[in-house]
Amino acid sequence: MLLMSLHVIGQFPAYRPRRLRQSPILRRLVSETQLDADRLVLPLFVRSGRKLRRPIAAMPGLFQLSLDELLREAALAHTAGVPAVLLFGIPDKKDARASGAYAANGIVQQAVKLLKKELPQLFVITDVCLCEYMEHGHCGLVHRGKSGVKILNDPTLKLLARTAASHVEAGADMVAPSDMMDGRVRAIREQLDKLGFTETPIMSYAAKFASAFYGPFREAAESAPKFGDRRSYQMDPANAAEALREVALDIQEGADIVMVKPALAYLDILYRVKAEFGYPTAAYSVSAEYSMVKAAGARGWIDERAVMLESLLAMRRAGADILITYAATDVARWLKEK
Ligand SMILES: [Zn+2]
Repeated sequence: MLLMSLHVIGQFPAYRPRRLRQSPILRRLVSETQLDADRLVLPLFVRSGRKLRRPIAAMPGLFQLSLDELLREAALAHTAGVPAVLLFGIPDKKDARASGAYAANGIVQQAVKLLKKELPQLFVITDVCLCEYMEHGHCGLVHRGKSGVKILNDPTLKLLARTAASHVEAGADMVAPSDMMDGRVRAIREQLDKLGFTETPIMSYAAKFASAFYGPFREAAESAPKFGDRRSYQMDPANAAEALREVALDIQEGADIVMVKPALAYLDILYRVKAEFGYPTAAYSVSAEYSMVKAAGARGWIDERAVMLESLLAMRRAGADILITYAATDVARWLKEK
């Protein structure tokens, strides 16, 4: 990060900032931040079936895909220049122990095998969580007691570690735990190491906020909680210092890449995380960030492409190395045309 001291800055009229803005060449020469396709990750939703493209109403242009269609979509993204995908699975059956999450032949495990076989150059990341596979939609095991409902932390860790291991056994290049249970990065690292996967990196959703910006995703992943909400495990949007502690913990537990989610409304968090730790940092531009731009663009209220590119550039400027966005394929194409 750049530090500057005000007395070494030129003064008008000797210093005229507009001098360096007068031509595209000059502007490019002094540009501080670049957007390139190498930074992009495309999230994809996979479910069973054939030739299935089930539109996600609140996310125009996005679909729940059967395996064959997933492969098609991933190939298109890869050809456009997107180097990596992030997989979310929608199982046929949900239960109280999220068994679909760690089934050897679960939907994500099948998807990983297929993608690594057909597109070996595509980097495959898997989202590691239980909510899509739980009948109640929470990210952890639930205990119903006299005093109400509790999301259990420590018993959930084993299932998360098991899920991550099953993804890596299927061939995943990286796992990304998104549950926000305490201690899950350590549990996953230990499990992967025990199985000999010491070289498989973990990208942790380190600072994940309980955000209204996830609205459209819940439909996409069919993971809305049936009761209660996620505020007992996801972070309070009011807290920044706590976000730094969350990130520190995940790094100590073995996270290789740390993530801030959502992105655009949390650029201060991104900036502080990058400045404080200097670790590879990912920004997850979440569903509503995508849908709002799409909706306003469709009405002609904003220039969709320009707003999308500017938003991602802002995330890069704030400190993001990796940009996870539903618009990744379009963005990669736009960047080629630039
Ligand atoms: Zn979850």
